[in-house]
Amino acid sequence: MAADRPPVPGRVVFDPLRPTEKPQEYYDEIKRKFAEARDLRLSYRPEGLSQYTSDLTGELAQYEIDPYVAAPESREPIHDTVEVLFIGGGFSALLTAARLRERGVQSIRIVERGGDVGGTWYWNRYPGVACDVSAYDYLPLLDEMNYVPGSFYAKGPEIFAHCQAIARKYDLYELAVFQTTVTSTQWDAKAKLWRVRTDRGDTMSARFVICANGTLSKPKLSKIEGMERFRGHSFHSSRFDYGYTKDDLSGLHNKVVGIIGTGASAVQIIPRVAKAAKQLYVFQRTPSAIDIRDDTPTDPAWKASLQPGWQHERREKHMRGPVLTEQQKIDLANLPREEKIRRQENQNIEHMMRIHRRVEEIVQDKATAEALKPWYMHRCKRPCFDDEYLPAFNRPNVHLVDTDGKGITEIDEKGPVFDGREYPLDVLIYATGFEVQVTGIYNEIRGENGLELNEKYADGMRTVFGVHSHGYPNLFIMGGYQASFQFNLTFMLQTQGDHIAECIKYVREHGYTTIDAAPQTEQWWVDEVIKHRGKTNRNKECTPGYYNFEGESNRRQDGNYNGTFLQYYTHMTEVKKEMERHFRFA
Ligand code: NDP
Repeated sequence: MAADRPPVPGRVVFDPLRPTEKPQEYYDEIKRKFAEARDLRLSYRPEGLSQYTSDLTGELAQYEIDPYVAAPESREPIHDTVEVLFIGGGFSALLTAARLRERGVQSIRIVERGGDVGGTWYWNRYPGVACDVSAYDYLPLLDEMNYVPGSFYAKGPEIFAHCQAIARKYDLYELAVFQTTVTSTQWDAKAKLWRVRTDRGDTMSARFVICANGTLSKPKLSKIEGMERFRGHSFHSSRFDYGYTKDDLSGLHNKVVGIIGTGASAVQIIPRVAKAAKQLYVFQRTPSAIDIRDDTPTDPAWKASLQPGWQHERREKHMRGPVLTEQQKIDLANLPREEKIRRQENQNIEHMMRIHRRVEEIVQDKATAEALKPWYMHRCKRPCFDDEYLPAFNRPNVHLVDTDGKGITEIDEKGPVFDGREYPLDVLIYATGFEVQVTGIYNEIRGENGLELNEKYADGMRTVFGVHSHGYPNLFIMGGYQASFQFNLTFMLQTQGDHIAECIKYVREHGYTTIDAAPQTEQWWVDEVIKHRGKTNRNKECTPGYYNFEGESNRRQDGNYNGTFLQYYTHMTEVKKEMERHFRFA
């Protein structure tokens, strides 16, 4: 297969076989600075995850209102029974539903809080929204949809349209229910059905329930003293208020805008709002690492060369990793573990120093450039790719308010206050992120004996692949912890979706009604997760962020599975060869 585009010049390819170039003292000195930056940041917010709130009720309720559709009209409650019910209508649901359709499942319902399918791509419509993963890998079901994205990186509207196209192709709109939030999911052991209640008075029943509520779905806000007193207009990045800004952002021409946060969402918003606003104040706590984007349109010759199954082939290749020669394999096997880690860290540092040089080359004001340099290891935070972000700080109307790790801690009627200075704003955008990987957000899940899932997890998470949990028959969890974590999330979700569809097929074809994880399989997986976590100090040494629970220590079993993606996939394949041993059927 022809390459989809040439490699971006200057981008580092990590290679453990490449010896370190500079004296070790050089790297040690930078690592020391990383540690200092982390300690400083942590000293201001030692409370970890609780510095945020996602309880957007009362005075904060406005931050969760859906600005993209009219308020829901009243409808009759639904009390029917379906075979498969998805909680959430994003990519998890869509790509799994496609696999279920391929296996003959007719009765599929999506229950979705938003006004359409799409999940992340329904909610995130801020200016500049795009995916940072190559579109040829990120957009699922490209083979099945016979679709090749128009450029290397897909923009939000193209991805949202792809979600809708999948829902149409697989007839998923037919039974879908929108603007509806699942509030409780309870196992009825007698009927062997899940009873699903919603905020619209529905009591739906389903043989199988798939928690497809996504990994970053519920907006969160930093707890900032006085935020409810702000008299200007404000909204969260995932509820972008085009009613106020106008579609072309012309509503911002005479406005002073502020944005809190400089994560992946803010990095995409800032250059676009910078062009439209009278003044833009960017309130930064920790800078993001901004790499070259260099988006390119899809090469028509490459597109024409694609054979059926091309995306599947690409995915397999990605999972198997780079092809090594026999000699490389021997060298790698002989490399002591400590040396491997050292090389990885040193290459990481080289990469981050290149990111620093890029800032210096682009940002003209020296103090601003210094403040925009990230002091942490590559991938401690989500790396960003944008060619317009750094140049935006050369505009006379854009002002970086660097809080040097402290963050904004006070807002008054007029705007944020930092270091004794008030920043009066017309509009304040919170780009402060999302609650991470919570199963059953808004929703209480009670399995056998009425045990709530979080009660079961009180002494530590217990699942198989992050997907099944013993005592919750016919329930499947997507995108939760104890699963693999991939930069390209949809590859991982597709792996889970394929697995779930196979499990449901097995139940149907063998005349069973239920499937539940066997306790010993669950114990094996918990041990497997623990075995692969905490092997390095990386998480502890990283600057705080949602990747490392904002610096909080956590139980080893309560995070992602840190074996390789291939190991995760292989374990799933092996388990499926002995279904009767690993699961209990009835
Ligand atoms: P993040 O959680 O990544 O960022 C939140 C930002 O808010 C951080 O910069 C944080 O600073 C800042 N912040 C929080 N509290 C304060 C405060 N009191 N004062 C100042 N700053 C504050 O959320 P995002 O929405 O940006 O991104 C979430 C995830 O969504 C990404 O990691 C990525 O996985 C996904 N995403 C993916 C995209 C893609 O292209 N695929 C595009 C956009 C998002 P600090 O860093 O110090 O905590």
